[in-house]
Amino acid sequence: MAQVEGAERYWNPVLETLPRDKLMALQLKKFKKIVQWAYNNSKFHRRLYQDAGLEPGDIKTWEDVRKVPKVEKGMMREIQRKDPFPYGEMLCVPLERVTEFHQTSGTTGQAVYQPDTWQDWEWWAEAWSYIMYAQGFRDTDRIFIPFGYNIFVAYWAGHYGGEKMGCEIVPGGVLDTEARILKIQELNATALMATPTYVLGMADKARSMGIDPARDLNISKILCAGEPGASIPATKNRMQEAWGAKVYDHVGATEIGAWAYECTAQPGGVHVNEALFLVELEDIETGKPITEPGRRGKLVLTALDREAQPCIRFDSKDVAEWAEEPCPCGRTFRWIKGGVVGRADDITKVKGVLLAPSAIEEVVRSFSELSDEFEVEVTKKGDLDDITLRVELMPEEAGHRESVEARLVDQLRLKTNLRYNIEFHDHGTLPRYTLKAKRFKDLRPKH
Ligand SMILES: [Zn+2]
Repeated sequence: MAQVEGAERYWNPVLETLPRDKLMALQLKKFKKIVQWAYNNSKFHRRLYQDAGLEPGDIKTWEDVRKVPKVEKGMMREIQRKDPFPYGEMLCVPLERVTEFHQTSGTTGQAVYQPDTWQDWEWWAEAWSYIMYAQGFRDTDRIFIPFGYNIFVAYWAGHYGGEKMGCEIVPGGVLDTEARILKIQELNATALMATPTYVLGMADKARSMGIDPARDLNISKILCAGEPGASIPATKNRMQEAWGAKVYDHVGATEIGAWAYECTAQPGGVHVNEALFLVELEDIETGKPITEPGRRGKLVLTALDREAQPCIRFDSKDVAEWAEEPCPCGRTFRWIKGGVVGRADDITKVKGVLLAPSAIEEVVRSFSELSDEFEVEVTKKGDLDDITLRVELMPEEAGHRESVEARLVDQLRLKTNLRYNIEFHDHGTLPRYTLKAKRFKDLRPKH
């Protein structure tokens, strides 16, 4: 067989460089198949489609794809109260075929349970192999995973994906941060997977132990998940400097799968894995499709091959925009600029201005005089919204507090159009988070 050009650069050299027309034809074919599968095997989907007057055979064009009703997380919670326990009417396979249980780590409402068959689990590992290979992971890597292995899918799938690629995986499960750092040093681990908050927290801890991660450890790649930090330039730079390593982002969710990844070309965004997922962008207000670059919308996602609990036109509420240029890495998969920039739900109106919490993070993390920890609290004073930003000044910067405050207020006003009360706290006194950080607190009374 002839060698495919660039075979060493891509996990799947054929699919990752497929011409757009062929890629879209493949997606349409797979989409029809998964809709038919769900219609045949899940009571929930059959009812949903019948109520919309839709038969799977009706789907012939991309116009038809958009007629397929979307699924929201709230609907999943509802049907999971029905049989069979505990997954309910979305389950498409007999219970005995389910081999994996996970649940969403959502911060609001009841969690959604996620069943997977062994075939689905291999699909998860395949999706992670695309991610890791694109980020330069190879079978020579020894990857340390400092993750409290539990009911959340996050790094379980990274663990299996790494194994599938032939990497050596060190599960850093119940060890505490200090023991994890010593183990990374002892084993000369070359790569790490963790949330941005924890990556920064570990570096802090290492320095307090007299270990400089950039100088004394051999980590060259860090794969982030769980929070948007690795796509926020200031946070990414902090991590890269602290560890002397390349930091890469990926995007995924329990109900959907690992659907987007940064490549080593780092164009300033993440590729959508269009071989395994159909990603649609739509206008937040009108629901009309957005195919052109440069306009923000809401993502609607389909996992094209997942069988136990299909994810078809899932309304993710993630906000993103298509990038214009093809990526220099040569992949034909489209990429989204700046990654997922927020959640349609998280974007709140403060003093009449739309505010995305990630914009505050970008400003705070661009100040080297401040630590990585911060908190934002929105309250109501009389009729007016009031925003307090709590930050920690680095001990050696104690004399520059006033100038830091003035510049911080300026930068925040520039980036978010809002005025903040700044509270300085002693270094090390704000809460440290290991999982998803809850830095944004909206304490205004709900109407
Ligand atoms: Zn690329």
